[in-house]
Amino acid sequence: EAKHSGKNQCALFNNTIGQKLEQKLILKNRIEQALVNHEFILHYQPQYNLHSNQLIGLEALIRWEHDDYCYSPNEFIPFAEKHGFIQLIDEYVLEMACQQIAEWQEQGLEVPRVAVNISSQQINSRKLVDIINRQLERCQFSGNLIELEITEYSLVKSLEKNHKETNWLNELKQKGIQIAIDDFGTGYSSLSYLQHMPIDRLKIDQSFVRNLNTETETHSIISSIISLGHNVNATVLAEGIETEQQKDILKQLGCDDGQGYLMNMPISAKQVTEILSEGKTLLAAS
Ligand code: C2E
Ligand code: MG
Ligand code: MG
Ligand code: MG
Repeated sequence: EAKHSGKNQCALFNNTIGQKLEQKLILKNRIEQALVNHEFILHYQPQYNLHSNQLIGLEALIRWEHDDYCYSPNEFIPFAEKHGFIQLIDEYVLEMACQQIAEWQEQGLEVPRVAVNISSQQINSRKLVDIINRQLERCQFSGNLIELEITEYSLVKSLEKNHKETNWLNELKQKGIQIAIDDFGTGYSSLSYLQHMPIDRLKIDQSFVRNLNTETETHSIISSIISLGHNVNATVLAEGIETEQQKDILKQLGCDDGQGYLMNMPISAKQVTEILSEGKTLLAAS
């Protein structure tokens, strides 16, 4: 535990001219090794309804533990995306998340929806639908327990590339899978794509939330995102809530849900088990 990520320790992922190919091979090899050695683990950040304070979900966030160092996703996900290794990672993450849900259910815990981040290269691929079908069959729980978080930017790029084809989304929706747009407000200038898609949730990017204390223009922007979300029948969740003041403003503006350091940091599966177990005793007692 208590491993910290520091900028100085990730020389592996820095690009130096002339070393790119070698670096790419080394990293690919390391990622494959890490998959075999189970060095990737998931932490979970709880998501709450801002009005009832009820736990409504858990966002799965990947960590790479190697020797005694823990890499944050920002240190390797962009690299893996760029060089085409991200599908290996995303498949592994989906598998781990499903397995964890099944485990919690076996322990008799009431499991909220688990949100998994999907990178741009994988979306719209037949493979994603196949992987999810396979996992649901293997683990035997309802698709409602899974949410896919896709960034606004990836979603729009993928729609452009695939002639606005959204069959894959509809197919996932039929299984009960929830779809969230991550980092909303940072990826694209046109909103027209929203009308063609079965979106369940908009996640307001944390850059807006960060400016809430000081800038009143930010209130208007957030307020517009909330109306927009509600108008397309999506729930709106704010990311990166760090202060009571931010939470209060978001509540006043009508934001439904939130996650952030104010409520919880991303925590280990074991810590989630403890939280869910407390819920169980509370339920049993009432
Ligand atoms: P994201 O999906 O937008 O996740 C939110 C990030 O904000 C997480 O960083 C989380 O730890 C951090 N965060 C949460 N609350 C707060 C807060 O109150 N203040 C601040 N300043 N930060 C907060 P993390 O875990 O480092 O992940 C970074 C990004 O890496 C994620 O952004 C996501 O795009 C990507 N990522 C993480 N896990 C996976 C994964 O399993 N697969 C893929 N493809 N991408 C992942
Ligand atoms: Mg996310
Ligand atoms: Mg985000
Ligand atoms: Mg992000």
